[in-house]
Amino acid sequence: MNETKKIPVLERVMKKNEQIAAEVREQLHEKGIVTFNFMGSPGGGKTTLIEETIKRLQGKKRIAVIEGDLATTIDAERIRHYGVKVLQINTGSMCHLDIRLITQALEKIDLSDIDFLFIENVGNLVCPSSHDLGEDYRIILASVPEGPFKPKKYPVIYKEADAVIITKADLLEYFPDFKVEILFQHAKEIQPEIKTFVVALKGEKIIIDDWITWIEQAKPKKR
Ligand code: MG
Ligand code: ZN
Repeated sequence: MNETKKIPVLERVMKKNEQIAAEVREQLHEKGIVTFNFMGSPGGGKTTLIEETIKRLQGKKRIAVIEGDLATTIDAERIRHYGVKVLQINTGSMCHLDIRLITQALEKIDLSDIDFLFIENVGNLVCPSSHDLGEDYRIILASVPEGPFKPKKYPVIYKEADAVIITKADLLEYFPDFKVEILFQHAKEIQPEIKTFVVALKGEKIIIDDWITWIEQAKPKKR
């Protein structure tokens, strides 16, 4: 295989994609839309967090959602239930969303009366980090059963993140080795500006208010 020839082509594609992403971000800003890219492992609670966030922003923010999964419309159907605009992208064998898939999706959604666009990326902590989707904010989920060392093990995705949310915090009592402050400290060593949140959506004590307060006031931002 001729690697010297391949690398420049890939670099050019990446550069072109970054340009397209910057244009998309500008178009969304012109419409007054703030966009959030939710990233995390499969089963980390991305769809649940989006559902619960939509519920709490009802009547305050008009929301559209792009759902990324390899297959099925299961998550899109869950979101549709809340009466928001939702579009499912099935990536087939691709383990991340890219800006070309986002532009195709945006052609199919009426964005004229939208305040927030939520993008649920494919469950993956590796390559989504190198794909600008035209978002304003990158939100990384770290669920308690995954253990406390995700920032240490996957630093690249944390480097570009605006917020980290520890999800499934209702399970903390079963994971005594999971220390919330340690994970946050590791994340801040990688990205000092990162915002930190804890969310628990099951069990007796629901915790989500700090996250909702933050997202509610989120303004368009340049990346
Ligand atoms: Mg999901
Ligand atoms: Zn990928």
